[in-house]
Amino acid sequence: MAASALYKAPDVAGYGDVPYEEKARLFDLVKADLRYPDYLYGCYECGICVAVCPSARFYDFSPRRVAQAAAREDVELIYQQMQEDIWECSQCFSCLRCPRGNNPGGIITIMREVAVNNGLASAREALEGYSRIIYKIMSTGTQVSPDMLQPDAFPDWGPEVKDVSDNLDLWRRALPPETLHTTRTGWDVAPRTLVELYLIWFETGALDMIKGVDEGLHMILEEVMEERLEEEGVER
Ligand code: SF4
Ligand code: SF4
Repeated sequence: MAASALYKAPDVAGYGDVPYEEKARLFDLVKADLRYPDYLYGCYECGICVAVCPSARFYDFSPRRVAQAAAREDVELIYQQMQEDIWECSQCFSCLRCPRGNNPGGIITIMREVAVNNGLASAREALEGYSRIIYKIMSTGTQVSPDMLQPDAFPDWGPEVKDVSDNLDLWRRALPPETLHTTRTGWDVAPRTLVELYLIWFETGALDMIKGVDEGLHMILEEVMEERLEEEGVER
């Protein structure tokens, strides 16, 4: 059933200024995603997903609330979560332990994609501080390594960035990540791999998703990628 035909609940979730039809349209997009039927089978309200969720320990966030809102087709609550809750999820997928077979983190992935594709304010805000990260990842085809966390490069990331960069060796001894990667180790991407990544981002629409939230960044990335593909003699 289309969400727009469902019972219209009172505006307890806020966002009363946004037409119900628009909220229903967004929820319909979430439900239309091919992955959605595999991610939601109902909810026992057992709370196992909350117990294993790292984000639930630190934020006012609950994967159970997300699964329940989706199961009840609560259009107002789903919209509120798209504007607030979903950005607290760390996408670790520990919640896959759900005994009902749900994938709350997966539902959130879809909700995020819909939020980004539709230029929701929450998506713009959530990604605002990450434009340089997105630029790095998508232009170089590799990840951001801890030794890139310098206060000069990330002045808006608060005092902890300076603390981390000043004591990076200590942090890394205390909390060694698996790869211990830095810009000097395990960071370079083979030219052929980079071209393949560029083509994937073009063809899957991943690059276009950025347009809705940061047009300037999209333009720069598009230019970088097109130039590289041209240099390599690759036609799209
Ligand atoms: S994927 Fe998100 S909702 Fe699921 S356990 Fe991880 S942080 Fe929590
Ligand atoms: S673990 Fe599954 S069934 Fe239990 S509350 Fe979470 S989503 Fe619902």
